[in-house]
Amino acid sequence: MKTDVVIIGGGPAGASAALFLEREGVSSIIVEQQSFPRYHVGESMTGEAGKVIRELGLEAEMMARGYPVKKGVKVYGPKGHSSWWVPVTSRNEAWGLYDSTTWQVRRSDFDEMLLNHAVAKGATLLPGKATRPLLNDDGSIRGVEVRLAGGSYQTIETEVILDCSGQATFLANAGVTGPKYLGNYDKQIAIFSQVKGAIRDNGGSRLEDKDNTLIFYQKKFHWAWFIPLDDDVVSVGVVSPSAYFQEKGESTKEFLMRELHELNDELTRRLPTIDLVEEVHVIPNYSYQVKGFCGKGYICIGDAHRFIDPIFSFGLTVAMREAQLAAPEIKAYLDGANRDADNPFAEHQLRCEQGADVLEDMIDLFWEQPLAFALFVHQRYTEEMTDAFAGRIFEHQPSKAIMAFRKMLKREGERLYEDEDLYSVPIGSRYHPERAPLWQANSEIQTTESWLGPR
Ligand SMILES: Cc1cc2nc3c(=O)[nH]c(=O)nc-3n(C[C@H](O)[C@H](O)[C@H](O)COP(=O)(O)OP(=O)(O)OC[C@H]3O[C@@H](n4cnc5c(N)ncnc54)[C@H](O)[C@@H]3O)c2cc1C
Repeated sequence: MKTDVVIIGGGPAGASAALFLEREGVSSIIVEQQSFPRYHVGESMTGEAGKVIRELGLEAEMMARGYPVKKGVKVYGPKGHSSWWVPVTSRNEAWGLYDSTTWQVRRSDFDEMLLNHAVAKGATLLPGKATRPLLNDDGSIRGVEVRLAGGSYQTIETEVILDCSGQATFLANAGVTGPKYLGNYDKQIAIFSQVKGAIRDNGGSRLEDKDNTLIFYQKKFHWAWFIPLDDDVVSVGVVSPSAYFQEKGESTKEFLMRELHELNDELTRRLPTIDLVEEVHVIPNYSYQVKGFCGKGYICIGDAHRFIDPIFSFGLTVAMREAQLAAPEIKAYLDGANRDADNPFAEHQLRCEQGADVLEDMIDLFWEQPLAFALFVHQRYTEEMTDAFAGRIFEHQPSKAIMAFRKMLKREGERLYEDEDLYSVPIGSRYHPERAPLWQANSEIQTTESWLGPR
């Protein structure tokens, strides 16, 4: 089998990459190991994610499926008595700011819809697991080996691999990219499910809309989310340091139930009973970044190269926007551009890295100095902050707000990206230098079971 582009993973990164490639006239094969619909965490979209959906012509489909329309995010302080709010916004072509909306999505349904759409537009779906990349002597991509759903193996020759394998980080694990480092939030754990019967806002204004995302801050690195998925069901999750979870000695379900009840008074009020309608899921150690994630014939997109922290719901945005940005670069490469370059996608890599660093600096300041952060959001840099919250990280950045954050975090601006090894932020688990900086090389991501042990 031979093709121009193989996409590993049919999640939001992979499906949107296929859709944007089809617009460039490039067909692709998507290799996906799971059969959809399948459960996935990550249901709240930013304004930019909504914009990508509209650009893909899917707004009517989203409305027809009844996905809740999100108008903003409300963040409650530790006791739940005070809160601050960030509306969903958009920018017009003249960079004028206006109020906008986006969606909350049940991922089993949304991911299947996006993948089916990619196939309807011309992508080929190959059910199976990509087992190893095949390389030429100069390290460039030659193809990929796939274990098909029936158990046999198939080799696909290809010019380009797009690694959209999410936290499985296919190319990083195979040693094709640069090293994979632990991220700053690597010793966190997220435990989550879905509930019925939660008390929502009553929809009197954008701020009080029943379908907004709510975040409940408890203390540093310890918080909960509340994301409406339909008129009745709400996604709820608790994130805390892993050490705190271990100290409690509870099962994941016991931990989730107790935390939802105790973590924040306002959350307690909204969950008078906790009626779980989904099993309890857990993801530990989700924070990492891969260096050198683009190279001769490959680009990693979305979670396949970096995930910081879920607090402000940037995962879908980054996955779909990076896919959008990659498509014209791949088309140019297939047409012969940068064929002799050491890294034909170096500019794309830098752009993605700079965008993610905006998010990382923002998230770090939120955790390190939450009061200063709230002041910036509401008084000093209101517009710039709605840009960051909306996921507008690839244009007009770093904004004055982000530069101010960098100063407060003592990350000086002048030395940024002088050469390709310099990042705006130190890589690795920087607030905990005793931790090994490198992710376990060449191993699969730890499974929930292996990490938790028998319970
Ligand atoms: C606790 C938590 C909460 C989150 N909340 C939000 C949120 O509210 N909003 C938000 O936007 N983001 C959120 N995220 C992030 C979001 O879930 C991800 O960023 C997003 O799913 C990334 O999309 P992706 O396509 O890169 O990867 P995925 O959605 O993980 O898709 C990867 C696909 O690749 C397939 N695959 C993997 N390896 C192979 C292989 N070898 N062969 C074939 N197929 C393969 C997998 O089966 C999978 O379907 C959250 C993340 C966490 C950890």
